[in-house]
Amino acid sequence: MASPPSYNEAISDNGDIFVTLPDCQAHASLLHTFYQLRISDPEVEKVYLARAEARYFQWMDHVQSYGPSMELLPPIDIVYMWHAHLLSPYRYYEDTLRNGWVLFHTKAYGLPLQRLEWAKTTFEDGVDPESEQYWRKFFPDQPYKLTTDNVDAGFSWIACPCCQSRIRSSWVDYAKMRTDKHSSIPCHNCKAKVTAEALSCARFVKDWSESTKTDIKLAGFQLDKKGKRLYLQPEIAARMIAIRDSAKVQAVLNSKEPLDWIELVIALRSQITIGRTDSKRLDLNTVATTMRSRYMGIPYKSSLDIIIAVARQWEFTAKMVEINWTTPASVADAVARYKKFLMLMKDHPKSILVPVLSIDLAWHTHMLNHYNYREYTLKHLFLVVNHDDTIASSKLNNYLISTAKLWYQKYQEPYTSDNLEKLYSSSSMFAAIQKRKMRKYWYQDKTTEKKEPTMEKDRYVEHNTGK
Ligand SMILES: [Zn+2]
Repeated sequence: MASPPSYNEAISDNGDIFVTLPDCQAHASLLHTFYQLRISDPEVEKVYLARAEARYFQWMDHVQSYGPSMELLPPIDIVYMWHAHLLSPYRYYEDTLRNGWVLFHTKAYGLPLQRLEWAKTTFEDGVDPESEQYWRKFFPDQPYKLTTDNVDAGFSWIACPCCQSRIRSSWVDYAKMRTDKHSSIPCHNCKAKVTAEALSCARFVKDWSESTKTDIKLAGFQLDKKGKRLYLQPEIAARMIAIRDSAKVQAVLNSKEPLDWIELVIALRSQITIGRTDSKRLDLNTVATTMRSRYMGIPYKSSLDIIIAVARQWEFTAKMVEINWTTPASVADAVARYKKFLMLMKDHPKSILVPVLSIDLAWHTHMLNHYNYREYTLKHLFLVVNHDDTIASSKLNNYLISTAKLWYQKYQEPYTSDNLEKLYSSSSMFAAIQKRKMRKYWYQDKTTEKKEPTMEKDRYVEHNTGK
C-alpha cells in the first residue's frame, strides 16, 4: 500500500490553484466555530438564522457598492450564511449575476478562510477590532457580533409586496414569518397579511415582469447545463415572453390583491390548452420548475433557501467536529482523494458520485473560493461541477456503492478507510451478505492495524443494534 501523498503532490497541478492544505485546515476550524453557533432553543435559533440571512444580503449589497478590502471580515453569522450559499455553486453564481453582486464571482472575493482563522486565534472573542470598527461605521444600528442576548434587539424593515410601504416588525415576528408559512406580518397601510409566500411570489412576478426577449431575468435561466452563462435562443425567449403576456397571466401579474402562487399556477395551467405544440409545453414546464425550485417560499434575493441550506450542513459539521480532522497527513490525503474523485467524475459525467467525508471536506473547501472552483472545474472537467446536498439518504446509499465500485475499477484501491457504516449509512443497507461482498471496496488494508475478525463482527453487531 502506497503511503499518503505529500502535500505538494496533492496540490501540484501545473500551476492551477487547487485546494490548499492551510485552507482545508482553516475550513475545518471554521466548522468548529459554526458548531459553537448552534443555539439550544430552536425558537431563538430561528431568529438568529433569519436575521443572519437578512444581514448577509445587506452586507453583499454593501460590499458590491463600496468594495472594501476582504481583510475586513464580516461578522461570523454572515460568514455562516455565505458558506452555505457557496456550497450550491450554480445557484450562488446565478444569484450573484442576478443581484448585481459581480464582485463575488471574482478572484479576490472568495471566503477568506485564512483571515478568519487568524482572527479566531489572535483575538480572545475571535473579533478583529478593525473589522468591527468598519462595520459600526456602516451599520450603526446592527451589532457586529450577533448573540442570543442581542439577536432580538432593534427592528426589521420589510417592504409590503402589495403597496410597497415599509413595515417595521420585531425580529421575532420577522423570523416567524420567514420560517413558518402560516405566519404573517400585517401591513399597516393596505392591511395585507405579508407572508413569505406572498413575498416570494412578488419576487417571481418582478423578475418575470422585468424580463425582455433579450434578457430573461428569472432565476434558473441564467446558466446552461455546464454552469456557463446562458444566452437563451431568441425563439425560446420569445415564447417565454408570449406566455407571460397572455391575457390570463397578465391579469394575475397586474392584480392589486396580495400575490398568490395558486392564482399564478392556475393562470399558467390555462396556457397548456393553448400551447398545443411540444415546445410551448416545454417552456411552461420550465417556468413551473423554476417557480417551484427557485422562488416558492424564498422571500428574498437568493434562489436557494439559505436558512434550509445552513440547516442541511449541521449534520456534516457535527461529524467533522467529532472527527477533528486537522492533521496535515489526513488533510493532504483528503485533498489528493478529492482530486481523484474529480477525475472519476470526469470519466463518468452521467453518474452521481457520492463523496466520503474526507473528500467532501476538500470539495467544500474548493467551493469556498467560487472563482477558483469555477475556473478549475471548467478547465479540467469542461463544466462547473455542481454539488447537491439534497439527495435522499435512501438513494445516497446506492450512489455510494456505485461510487465505490467505479473508484475501485479506476484506481484499484478501496474507496475509503472511513467507517462508512458509522458515517453515512443506515444499518439496513449493510446487510451481512452485501457487506461481505462490498468489503474490498470499502476498506483500505491498513497493514499497521489488522482488524481481528471478532472485532469486525462486534462492531457490526453494535451497528445493527445501535443508532
Ligand atoms: Zn401594504
